[in-house]
Amino acid sequence: MIREQLYDGHKRKIGDVRISVTDRCNFRCQYCMPAEGLPWLDREDLLSYEEIARLVGLLASMGVHDVRLTGGEPLARRELWRLVELLSADENVHDLSLTTNGYLLERQVEQLVKAGLRRVNVSLDSLAADRFFQLTRRNSLQQVLDGLAAAERHPELRPIKVNAVALKDFTEDEVVRFAEFARKHPYEVRFIEFMPLDADRTWSRDRVLPNAEVRRLIHAAYPLKDLGRDRHGTSRRWEFADGQGSIGFISPVSEPFCGDCNRIRITAEGNLRTCLFSMTETDLRGPMRAGASDDELERIIRAAVWEKELKHDVNDEGFVQPLRTMSQIGG
Ligand code: SAM
Ligand code: SF4
Repeated sequence: MIREQLYDGHKRKIGDVRISVTDRCNFRCQYCMPAEGLPWLDREDLLSYEEIARLVGLLASMGVHDVRLTGGEPLARRELWRLVELLSADENVHDLSLTTNGYLLERQVEQLVKAGLRRVNVSLDSLAADRFFQLTRRNSLQQVLDGLAAAERHPELRPIKVNAVALKDFTEDEVVRFAEFARKHPYEVRFIEFMPLDADRTWSRDRVLPNAEVRRLIHAAYPLKDLGRDRHGTSRRWEFADGQGSIGFISPVSEPFCGDCNRIRITAEGNLRTCLFSMTETDLRGPMRAGASDDELERIIRAAVWEKELKHDVNDEGFVQPLRTMSQIGG
């Protein structure tokens, strides 16, 4: 069944949903989780795979064709391939992807590809083992590189994107190395600006390394040519002038792209969020478990999405950081 396209109150067509499948994670990235972890959700509070598939099916019938699985660490949830299989069977889901820290990728990639996964983003913030440990508090660089190599062996899985959060006075030393990594491998490396969604609340404007600076450093070593914004408007891509690969920049702090935001999120416990920085959420699990019909759920979703924020206010005086961290939202 096809339903009317989902729009927000600012005439933005909503086409992309990020689903968090768990709030748990096996890493403790400095810019996301505290060293001791967070109080995890109980198992019964998580949406089941069948509940997620129902919501995705409903959203996809409203034109939300792009679906990304995230978390917490999505591969830490048991048998994620089962969810991938359910979602890839939905003809209204046109683009199904996964964001992972890569630690469990090597052992799961084959099953995920078999289940229908076609795209993967791997987070990797340093290519040096000691610096990787400093950031993630885990000694796991090699497992992540092995996960990437395993993904590369599956030609069905393209593009493979590598996302690096850029931190001032830290990432500068490695940006040229990342550029070389992007030139050597079939990975599109993308730098993401640090956002105020960390559990330790250490974010400040001076810890953001603006992407313009990252680009300047790379351009000095390997000249770049602008390819413009991607089709979602979130990242701006640059190609190496000699044609050997490309690099992307996601700049939510220095160049917000809210005007083009077509995205909503569903947290692991089934709350709809209309912005990373939302202060309110809409419960979908409660009505679902109370027996709401698809038409009733559709009405709840449309009403919540209509109120989607025009823009985030990270750059405004008086900005208040949401209570939830990136890992609890689903980045
Ligand atoms: N655990 C998986 C991973 O790390 O890829 C998926 C969830 S993680 C929350 C999704 C993305 O959010 C990762 O690329 C991570 O680097 C990014 N992220 C987390 N905290 C962030 C922050 N404070 N600012 C910018 N990006 C952040
Ligand atoms: Fe875990 Fe991803 Fe957060 Fe790192 S960024 S702590 S891998 S959820």
